[in-house]
Amino acid sequence: MTTQPKASHFIDGQYVEDTAGEIIEVIYPATGAIIARLHAATPSIIEQALTSAKRAQKEWATWSPTERGRVLRKAAQIMRDRNHDLSVLETYDTGKPYQETSVADATSGADSLEYFGGLIASITGEHIPLGEDFVYTRREPLGVCVGIGAWNYPTQIACWKAAPALACGNAMVFKPSETTPLCALKVAEILHEAGAPAGVYNVLQGYGSVGASLITDARVDKVSLTGSVPTGRKVYAAAADGLRHVTMELGGKSPLVIFDDADLENAVSGAILGNFYSSGQVCSNGTRVFVQKGTKDVFLERLSARLAGVKMGDPQDPDVNFGPMVSDRQRQIVEGFIAKGLEEGATLITGGKRVDRGGFFIEPTVFADVTDDMTIARDEIFGPVMSVLDFETEEEVLARANDTVFGLAAGVFTADLTRAHRMAAGFEAGTCYINTYNDAPVEAPFGGAKLSGVGRENSKAAIEHYSQIKGVYVRMGDLDAPF
Ligand code: NAD
Repeated sequence: MTTQPKASHFIDGQYVEDTAGEIIEVIYPATGAIIARLHAATPSIIEQALTSAKRAQKEWATWSPTERGRVLRKAAQIMRDRNHDLSVLETYDTGKPYQETSVADATSGADSLEYFGGLIASITGEHIPLGEDFVYTRREPLGVCVGIGAWNYPTQIACWKAAPALACGNAMVFKPSETTPLCALKVAEILHEAGAPAGVYNVLQGYGSVGASLITDARVDKVSLTGSVPTGRKVYAAAADGLRHVTMELGGKSPLVIFDDADLENAVSGAILGNFYSSGQVCSNGTRVFVQKGTKDVFLERLSARLAGVKMGDPQDPDVNFGPMVSDRQRQIVEGFIAKGLEEGATLITGGKRVDRGGFFIEPTVFADVTDDMTIARDEIFGPVMSVLDFETEEEVLARANDTVFGLAAGVFTADLTRAHRMAAGFEAGTCYINTYNDAPVEAPFGGAKLSGVGRENSKAAIEHYSQIKGVYVRMGDLDAPF
């Protein structure tokens, strides 16, 4: 497969290049090899993208919801037909194993396109009777939306933003992460091939400064960011200046609570999925694993035994189930946290070292005896590092689980039905799981409370964030005035 795209940007229905832009080297995380060279968007590229989006949006919004939905559903079908190639590319872009990308990335993107393509025709306004008079509401697009992506799920993030935005009649200018810039170009190609008018979905490349210059442009009506909390703060503040709509999908340090009565194997599976899938580079990961005292030893025993099933290697090999960190920098950040864990007195159960092979691999790492004040229990690590903390009572663990500035996700494993729902109600988090972890179907809302974000992606809730209601008052009789 050739990983070098035809050009860096996809604007107004075609690939465009401006070699004056800063170089972006794309690195295959499993080997460290450079697999593509792109250029960051110059002011001229940004201008082309916004001009094109502004023009295209006007036309796109005149299409009926059914017509727009048909384009999205066709794009979903093309993505499914090309799942293999898209998954191989996702693996080159991110280093995530093909075993994951072939079931979680283009497929999730296709689900999103299909769901919003199907939903949009059923979204209607209201008729509000006022005696003789009445008000009716129209659900209208926002206009031009800017999407800015993180590096861990480049295809999924591109689609999770594009699908509701386009379904509602908006146009989008999407800037992928500079670390994984390849996949969104394929999403743009596919949407165009499925019949989206030129300019409705544009992709341009760049570092943070390109994202920053998009947000403040007068033509932009909404910004949707997936990224870290520090970036979220900057983007939210910049968007506030123009009172633009925002969706912020940010970081987390989510709790996963395992009670003594939980099914042990399922709980271990949840902890594995919530810490080591995508080598731990998942925003909603349950990285603070609270295990009730009676279960701690047997939990750690089973977890260690199950970790023997980790198979590292070339992520393109379908048997490999654990890939590298996305970059050397990310690996160094994770190593810094592991060193802090040791220094602050946590017990290293397994892992902790980089792996002696090409690329940016690091072992799946488990710390036990972690306390609430340790750095590894407070900060988002974004790597394969699980912290196991002990607890005794439900009341205690809920208070400790919520003692964080983040609020993206939370999970509980227990056989006690009423306790499970009490915990879900008590968690200060946008997305909760009972006896499972990290499922993210498009039908369910996804997003964070507290510093983890604003707004929701997926589900009917996303429609609220990509459209606005207009109320139209209709007077049927004569109008009185004081003079
Ligand atoms: P990041 O915040 O460094 O970058 C995210 C994006 O923002 C990149 O495209 C970057 O170029 C851009 N950016 C940086 N500075 C900017 C600025 N001033 N203005 C506009 N854009 C700017 O995040 P990352 O390292 O790419 O991703 C990891 C983070 O993303 C983690 O914190 C993770 O939890 C979070 N994340 C959240 C979700 C979610 O849905 N909640 C999903 C995936 C990742």
